[in-house]
Amino acid sequence: MRFSPQDEEFRGRLRQWLTENLTGRFAGLRGAGGPGREHEAHAERMAWNRHLAAAGWTCLGWPAEYGGHGATFAQQVIFHEEYARSGAPARVGYMGEELLGPTLIALGTPEQRRRFLPPIAAVTELWCQGYSEPGAGSDLAAVATAAVLDGDEWVITGQKVWTSQAQVADWCFVLARTKAGSRRSQGLSYLLVPMRQAAITVRPIRQLTGTAEFNEVFFDGARTERGLVVGEVGDGWRVAQATLAIERGVATLGQQVGFRRELDALIDLARRGPAAADPVLRDKIVRAWIGLEVMQAYALDTMENAGPGPGGPGTGGPGTGRPGMPGAEASVTKLLWSRWHRGLGELAMEVEGTRSMVARGAPYDLGDWQRLFLFSRADTIYGGSDEIQRNIIATRALGLPRQPRP
Ligand SMILES: Cc1cc2nc3c(=O)[nH]c(=O)nc-3n(C[C@H](O)[C@H](O)[C@H](O)COP(=O)(O)OP(=O)(O)OC[C@H]3O[C@@H](n4cnc5c(N)ncnc54)[C@H](O)[C@@H]3O)c2cc1C
Repeated sequence: MRFSPQDEEFRGRLRQWLTENLTGRFAGLRGAGGPGREHEAHAERMAWNRHLAAAGWTCLGWPAEYGGHGATFAQQVIFHEEYARSGAPARVGYMGEELLGPTLIALGTPEQRRRFLPPIAAVTELWCQGYSEPGAGSDLAAVATAAVLDGDEWVITGQKVWTSQAQVADWCFVLARTKAGSRRSQGLSYLLVPMRQAAITVRPIRQLTGTAEFNEVFFDGARTERGLVVGEVGDGWRVAQATLAIERGVATLGQQVGFRRELDALIDLARRGPAAADPVLRDKIVRAWIGLEVMQAYALDTMENAGPGPGGPGTGGPGTGRPGMPGAEASVTKLLWSRWHRGLGELAMEVEGTRSMVARGAPYDLGDWQRLFLFSRADTIYGGSDEIQRNIIATRALGLPRQPRP
């Protein structure tokens, strides 16, 4: 990417701010959080995120009228680069800032935007994503969680699963069936539901990494206001798809910069050990480096040049303050990064050699590389599995016939 003098000025200002502020009580947070490590220093990372927000470093790409800063695409890229380079801890408000916020900017009502966007920007309310259910993962249209109107409120009954961050979230965007007897993608609505109520139970699921970043969530007559439906009642499928396309596309921008940091650290590790002399490992490391270049070039090029985002308006592009990415391209991006990152985890284990097989301490104290290896197994599953991305590419980009459905 080419950056203008104004962009470089922005970079300098941000870099200076990060250097001056990642000190004192925040100094110890360097490198904390991230995939498989979301449990680390949560309260302290919340404080750091609010500090960022107070200085205007959250929701950069959102339009200013919604609490954002109308930053250009180049500035958003710079933000992610500098943030990763500084070693600042993983941000806690990803679901709100990157997924729900842009969805509301595009498809929410003025009242919903007024109510929900400022607390996302200030990092005072956290969100989680209530899509998957025990019988509806890849086949999201099989959602069975039901919501019925009772006076001025929706009453929600059902179960979600694999809900990341539900244990800390204040709100959940829930895909629920609001038309009794409806089938598949018809009759679904996208509801905004407060998490802190007695009729919601959150049960953590322990993962390979030994930590519990995602959860089962039970709705036993949970309630939310009648007006807290994004889009029309019954039009939830379209809204849910818009959020998914953002998740697979533009929201990966920051993540890819984090990949660079991981790869650099792995190369450093390899240089210091026997891996540096192993021709096969050297070859794999070079391939990983090239893979990351290809992935970033593809993502930047498609985002910069695409018009309105995938799934219709609102998933990036003009008016949203975000670059766009059409549906099939978002799926290519997801495929590229998921396979690359899972491969990086495997490569890290090879570089570590036999050490990779031993835990740091009992009963299950894993090192950072081990955790990366284990957590990255999930990369080809969440946000839509690799198989599902290939189906999307087959039908939307290549025009192949739909898969037969038994
Ligand atoms: C770490 C992590 C975090 C997650 N966070 C969230 C979250 O916050 N909120 C949320 O709602 N969900 C979340 N999920 C759930 C995730 O979206 C689902 O796991 C995913 O959509 C796959 O669904 P499933 O697990 O039910 O697998 P299944 O749909 O049962 O799939 C099983 C296997 O069959 C393959 N398959 C299924 N259908 C097809 C098909 N038509 N063609 C070819 N192959 C197929 C799949 O690719 C997969 O290999 C998370 C998952 C993980 C791993």
